[in-house]
Amino acid sequence: MEIVLKIIFFRFLKTFAPLLKEINKHKLLVIYYHHVLPRHDMNRISDKNMCIEVKAFETQMKFLSENFVPLSETQIIESIDHKRKLPEHAVWVTFDDGYGDNHAYALPILKRYQIPATFFITSGYINQTACLAKETHSDVEHLFMTWAQIKELNLQGFGVGCHTVNHRILSSLVPNEIVYEIESSKMEIEKEIGRPVITFAYPHGKRIDCVFKKAIPMLRQCGIRMAVTTVGGMNSLRDFERNSLRLRRLGISHDDSLTTFKTKVESGCFWQK
Ligand SMILES: [Zn+2]
Repeated sequence: MEIVLKIIFFRFLKTFAPLLKEINKHKLLVIYYHHVLPRHDMNRISDKNMCIEVKAFETQMKFLSENFVPLSETQIIESIDHKRKLPEHAVWVTFDDGYGDNHAYALPILKRYQIPATFFITSGYINQTACLAKETHSDVEHLFMTWAQIKELNLQGFGVGCHTVNHRILSSLVPNEIVYEIESSKMEIEKEIGRPVITFAYPHGKRIDCVFKKAIPMLRQCGIRMAVTTVGGMNSLRDFERNSLRLRRLGISHDDSLTTFKTKVESGCFWQK
């Protein structure tokens, strides 16, 4: 039933998507993925919403490269700092959790279409296989990237952001624990890649998970310039400084057809369960 309603919603929205794209052309679109996997590997992930099939991902990246302007985290921040306008139809592609399949399957496609994405790393999970595997009921082998792979992403010009140490939801923590989760993950990644980490993704990332009032001053103090949620929508650049540590993103799901994907990114609208 859910999927039928979603299809009807996006079919209806499709008519208005080009108009909405024009209206939203000065806003920043941020999209996010988790796993990128071949179809036969997708069965090992219980929550299919966290997956995208490799071929579908490639079609989506091709579409973005032809119809949007993919930007890196550095390009966005430099534009804001120098009070330069971002190009129209700017998009920032992001990946959460640091899964090994991102390096194996997404990276070659991103390079092919010259899309400078950011990968948000849960530092405590790198070089080990447990933890999140329990949460996602995934096969643990090669679940997360290694530090060597993350260094390679950095050297190839991709963004590497932090996503806490233990993937703990910030709203469940006391202030000292929030500081630890942000600061330690940032410092560990910086030690490995040899440059400042300036972006952060809130674990789970719904409004109720993020405790913005506590977290935003801590993120600012740590030198984080952009932080992303999983709250749906696009981002106005007019108020960017105020919103840069609570950016909205559109999640791309395994059952998004290409038409749904196009409608989603053009309209900036999303389907919430
Ligand atoms: Zn996550």
